[in-house]
Amino acid sequence: MEHIYDMIVVGGGPGGYTAALYGVRAGLDTLVVEKMSAGGQMTLTTQIDNYPGFENGVDGNELGEKMRLGAERFGAKTEYAEVLSLELEGEIKKVVTSTGELLSRTVILATGASPRRLGIPGEAEFTGLGVSYCAACDGMLYRGRTVVVAGGGNTAAHDAITLSRICEKVIVIHRRDTLRASRVYHEPLAAAKNIEFRWNSAITEIHGDDIVSGVTIKDLKTGETGELECGGVFVCIGREPASALVRGKLECDETGYVIADETTRTAIPGVYAIGDLRTKPLRQVVTAAADGATAAHFAEQYLTEAAGR
Ligand code: NAP
Repeated sequence: MEHIYDMIVVGGGPGGYTAALYGVRAGLDTLVVEKMSAGGQMTLTTQIDNYPGFENGVDGNELGEKMRLGAERFGAKTEYAEVLSLELEGEIKKVVTSTGELLSRTVILATGASPRRLGIPGEAEFTGLGVSYCAACDGMLYRGRTVVVAGGGNTAAHDAITLSRICEKVIVIHRRDTLRASRVYHEPLAAAKNIEFRWNSAITEIHGDDIVSGVTIKDLKTGETGELECGGVFVCIGREPASALVRGKLECDETGYVIADETTRTAIPGVYAIGDLRTKPLRQVVTAAADGATAAHFAEQYLTEAAGR
């Protein structure tokens, strides 16, 4: 007889391992399937200062490992494999991975989302060394410095305002001559004396020695290029949810996030979407972890009800 888990968690980020922790502590036979290493997007951040309980902050890799070990202490298992496809309908769900097929009564989807990249020279090289994708996470590292923000949507607007309170100067570089951001942001952006805009412009290169010292920007109307000195580059041009595995199986919004509310339940019984993957207003480590606990709670309730049927 093939083994049937109570709960398979797809993705070993903070949401995934919190679901696993709550699952095993509720007595559920729980497996996390993770492609690379515990931590998800956190592993790209060396200093996380907004996850409570760490008075000096914590390295993202370390926090990921701590979350994995915390769940494994109570019996959660981890399978290092890539999930290739999912069969989610019915009582027993199938998770097809690069190392074989797995069966489970519930599936928690915790595959996350990743920031869209500019794809320009210097971006990958300086990620974590002046290139950031999250003002809430890294803004404090740039206190008193000049930073640039790439993008013109709500995230760029929100992050520019946040950074203007911390940094000496914020230069927003946007490829069009108007913001996509909601009107609600326009007044605070205009009121902030230290926010400047470079319209119809694109960053074409990020440079520095050990850390970022400046960018090359191109005027998209005239084709002229110029240099800007800055200590940091915040790339705020949207995010890509890792929802390819469930497209056509679960309802997603127009940008690809799996539609699930605060209960994390999806339209398929026994299937939950948590953390950055689902529609939600704030995507942070702490909100992903909260989702993990919620999903395990509803999965346990679902299994109890199913056992009574
Ligand atoms: P977004 O709305 O997709 O905006 C992305 C911005 O980046 C756009 O201005 C876009 O330019 C620009 N962009 C995209 N690709 C680019 C590239 N390769 N090079 C340069 N610029 C590029 O993404 P978002 O701002 O992250 O927002 C995502 C979602 O979260 C939205 O639905 C947003 O409303 C929501 N959100 C809401 C709030 C809030 O309500 N407080 C806060 C943050 C985010 P174009 O304008 O030219 O396309």
